[in-house]
Amino acid sequence: MDLSNKVPLLQGHRRRLIVGACVIAPAAFVVLFPDVLGKRLGVSSGALELGSLLLLVGVTLWLARGARCPSCKTNLFWYGVNHRFGNWLGWLLTESTCPKCGYTASDRSEGQAG
Ligand SMILES: [Zn+2]
Repeated sequence: MDLSNKVPLLQGHRRRLIVGACVIAPAAFVVLFPDVLGKRLGVSSGALELGSLLLLVGVTLWLARGARCPSCKTNLFWYGVNHRFGNWLGWLLTESTCPKCGYTASDRSEGQAG
């Protein structure tokens, strides 16, 4: 039984991570397969690919912004993408201990706006 009341390190970033992942997935699809959507919408697949790529880069940078360990300031978004590539979102949403410094978040901050 775990009595330490661990909470995810990025508890306050949950909404941002989920919204970002919902944008990244379709944007990545369009970047990889621009012809599929381009033909359906009747627009140039090159413009669609470029627009989706810019959206992908922008949302990725937005996700990475502020996703830091409160103790050592390691950017946990980039760490998760690099080390947990297959499940970076799940890892970011659940990890309660910093892999770099061992800092563990607890729910002492309960009541804080999330
Ligand atoms: Zn840390």
